[in-house]
Amino acid sequence: MPLTPAAYLDRRAHDDVRLLQTLVRLRTVNPPGENYDAITSLLARELVGLGLTTRRFIMPAALLKKHLPPDQQDHPRFNVLGRWNTGAAKTIHFNAHYDVVPAGGAWRHGDPFSGVLERGWVYGRGAADMKGAIVSLLLALRALRATRTPPRCNVEVSFTADEETASALGSGWLVQHAGLHADYAVVMEGGEGRAICCGHNGVLWFNVTVHGRAAHGSKPERGINALEKMSALVLALEDYKRLVARRIFATPDGKTMRPTLNIGGVFAAGPGVKINTVPASASFTLDRRVLPVEDHARAERELRLFLAAAARKIPQCRITVEKISENFACFARPAHSFFKAMAGSVGHVRRTRPIFSVSTGFNDMHFFAQHLKIPTLGYGPGGANYHAMDERASVRDLVLTAKVYADLLATFAG
Ligand SMILES: [Zn+2]
Repeated sequence: MPLTPAAYLDRRAHDDVRLLQTLVRLRTVNPPGENYDAITSLLARELVGLGLTTRRFIMPAALLKKHLPPDQQDHPRFNVLGRWNTGAAKTIHFNAHYDVVPAGGAWRHGDPFSGVLERGWVYGRGAADMKGAIVSLLLALRALRATRTPPRCNVEVSFTADEETASALGSGWLVQHAGLHADYAVVMEGGEGRAICCGHNGVLWFNVTVHGRAAHGSKPERGINALEKMSALVLALEDYKRLVARRIFATPDGKTMRPTLNIGGVFAAGPGVKINTVPASASFTLDRRVLPVEDHARAERELRLFLAAAARKIPQCRITVEKISENFACFARPAHSFFKAMAGSVGHVRRTRPIFSVSTGFNDMHFFAQHLKIPTLGYGPGGANYHAMDERASVRDLVLTAKVYADLLATFAG
């Protein structure tokens, strides 16, 4: 009897480990964006080996100049796109980012990029976020090929850059310029285990600068103390927090989400600070998480107006507010047949009752949901210690997730 994709995947767990070790050891650290050429060459070769029509896009120098700080512009950016045409009417797109956040500290195996396998876990920066997902997908496609199980949709695959720095030259570029033909998208993170992600929060990042006036520290009354003004402004933001916390969003899995504001993830004195000088400038950042049910532009306007009004109430408090970056929220009620099909595959493979969750963080789902306006979900193998020491992925979850992808492709016709 011919093997099923699931049985094939059970026998090839060592392939998952080897491939994940190879990917982890390619240190694609972002910023600044290292080894992108090497990893995208390898990933493009893998897709070609699986019989996909594959393109590797190099981002034009003008875009690097526009979107990257000067010290990163000599690090090229690439996106990989593969297509398996089965002759089906509909197409499912699978996306993963291949960049990883920087790694430091004392890791269990010394090197943060060791790829060591220990008790069923592969260790290393990027193992969970999200090179493991790339492995699960490639193994799923390999299993379908090897067992002659045709996907019931066309399959589109992208491996993209820079998710850890807002994706302008990754998924943001891809959905606009790569000529995608997708009807559905799976961003391979955000949901794991029995949780399927059907949306995520948006984010607004600001830098607020308070402008004072320097004076000699022995005559502070002649200056305007920017730190004192900043402190008053920060306290005033408590009212803003209370205001937005009244808004609630009930998620499909029965959780309650509220908008949040994190103050001063970064705060700084301006130039020329000295113990005997009245500080002339001070700044702090704001991280406002925007619910999927909020209007993004209105949330920005509201925060800017609140800051301006609060500053007016503080004598001689002059501020400038600069938007550093933003990402849009996305959410879809999981009623569509695509979500049901994924729930069916997760339930079948993991022998569990799936739930639909909404992530407080963000990922690349919104590019597909908002720009392409297609049903988009988040599901991958995940792991432990994202962005932290001893990040790792479980081999069992890599195999189970490959089975989920293979099952979805073998059963869902769109
Ligand atoms: Zn990620």
